[in-house]
Amino acid sequence: MRFSQSLIPTLREAPANAEIPSHVLLLRAGLIRQLGSGLFTWLPLGVNVLQKVERVVREELTKRGAYEILMPFVQPAELWKESERWQVMGPELLRLADRHDNEYCLSPTHEEVVTDLFRNNVSSYRQLPCNLFQINTKFRDEIRPRFGVLRSREFIMKDGYSFHLDEETFDATYQAMYDAYAAILTRLDLDFRAVEADPGLIGDGDSHEFHVLANTGEDALAFSQDGDYAANVERAEAITEELRPDSKKDLTKLATPGVTSIESLVDFLEIDIVSTVKTIIVEGKDSPIALVLRGDHELNELKAARLPNVVQPLRFATEEQVLDAVGCKLGSIGPVGLEIPVYVDRAAGVLADFYCGSNETGFHLSGVNWDRDVSCDNNVDIRRVQEGDPAPDGSGPLSIVRGIEVGHIFQLGTKYSRSMQASVQDANGVNVFPLMGCYGIGITRLAAAIVEQRHDEIGIDWPTEASPATLHVLSLNAERSELVRTTSNQIYSDCMNAGIDVLYDDRPERPGVKFADADLIGIPHRVVVGERALNEGKVEYRYRRGETSLVEPSDIVRRLNA
Ligand code: ATP
Ligand code: MG
Repeated sequence: MRFSQSLIPTLREAPANAEIPSHVLLLRAGLIRQLGSGLFTWLPLGVNVLQKVERVVREELTKRGAYEILMPFVQPAELWKESERWQVMGPELLRLADRHDNEYCLSPTHEEVVTDLFRNNVSSYRQLPCNLFQINTKFRDEIRPRFGVLRSREFIMKDGYSFHLDEETFDATYQAMYDAYAAILTRLDLDFRAVEADPGLIGDGDSHEFHVLANTGEDALAFSQDGDYAANVERAEAITEELRPDSKKDLTKLATPGVTSIESLVDFLEIDIVSTVKTIIVEGKDSPIALVLRGDHELNELKAARLPNVVQPLRFATEEQVLDAVGCKLGSIGPVGLEIPVYVDRAAGVLADFYCGSNETGFHLSGVNWDRDVSCDNNVDIRRVQEGDPAPDGSGPLSIVRGIEVGHIFQLGTKYSRSMQASVQDANGVNVFPLMGCYGIGITRLAAAIVEQRHDEIGIDWPTEASPATLHVLSLNAERSELVRTTSNQIYSDCMNAGIDVLYDDRPERPGVKFADADLIGIPHRVVVGERALNEGKVEYRYRRGETSLVEPSDIVRRLNA
């Protein structure tokens, strides 16, 4: 590709409103441009990256027995009503009507359409297992599109779906897709982790997310320092190894004027935060529900939302609801004497002689003890794990790192085959609902995640398999030198003939501009064609940020193919 004729609008400055390195660099290196909120155009270099990433994805999937299809982006509402997701999805699903007033949506995912395809075309166990995928546009009306193409509204996803009659092939395909995702991220030279994911509302099937590690990632991942345990913090179970000590103190009411938070309670009484509990009121199906945590712990909202009678998704009680249910303001709630259901986190349940709110504004309690002063019957896991917590499988303390979720695989079970009546006949002629798995990897998000992990202060550092080109040829002052012109042109055509993709900087720009753009764009192999070296019959070759060496122009193809 010729730089002069392609559209590569590089920028010297970081654009305003780009908050993280991948967004800044994809804009500055001229790979993307924004059209509107969460909507992006991919320019020639960007499209090259997407195509390379897609190639790696396709190769790893097809060699594991998945077959490519292409389903419509616009989908009839009827299918979504059958699965009941038309009601459940909320405003993330963009709905529209055609000229005949038929309702449609823009696809956020394709379970409904693929299940419909399956039920109309597969009727016998002999056709199973079946594993289909596509690479296609998705639309999700994200509440907060951000970080450029990492969380956009329109994006490209590889989504795959498999159908099975038996657990054996179900598990084997799940494992094969797990291996495919690991192989994809390994080929892209990424530091990544596969973690257990929250199963969500669908059930208890296996679910794993693949994360590219980056400090700017939106997810926190917990993994054991000595073992194999790795889970999204949303999912990670918090275990408590301590036992509850005996009580030593009497229950006492303390005046705490103006104290409305755990932090101010700790300061006011000069106590250790670990000896306090906080009480959070959330909406329940019948009445509000109280959740009690140790003062320094954070609530895991997904865990809490799965408790019996708690509303999904979790909703915190308002000031008025709290006043109504408890009789005090938000900062003074405590478990003693509450007449609503109380769930106590495991770590709060092992405290003795602790401090908490008194359900009376301006007062707190000290010397509080479970069982003696307040029941601790509903002892549950509702907190977020923290750095240093024990791993739930006993394999040592947990570390927490941040990651960008690029892939998600999921055992759906019979949720869709059942709700959409996609049955097949088994070997005995009995109609059964097949088990389904789904496997997603965000192509556009993955491209950005690569940049987020692989960049330095001068620009991007593309892994070979995702680079917008293999070789960047810079011809210096070609307009002043016939020799530079013919040599550069020759290298360009030799590489093209050899099937090596080249970004050929043939612009009449100053060398400094070309070098800065080459650093920014970050193609791994670079050849500089300049008059000085050419006088000795050589060009300058460099790999990544390494040393420069002088090579014969005719030797370049051989080196790159080596
Ligand atoms: P997130 O938690 O980040 O919203 P998700 O759980 O909604 O992701 P899935 O439904 O599992 O995502 O979709 C599969 C993949 O699609 C994700 O792993 C991610 O790579 C990609 N993806 C999802 N939402 C977006 C988005 N808004 N922009 C870009 N890629 C996305
Ligand atoms: Mg999402």
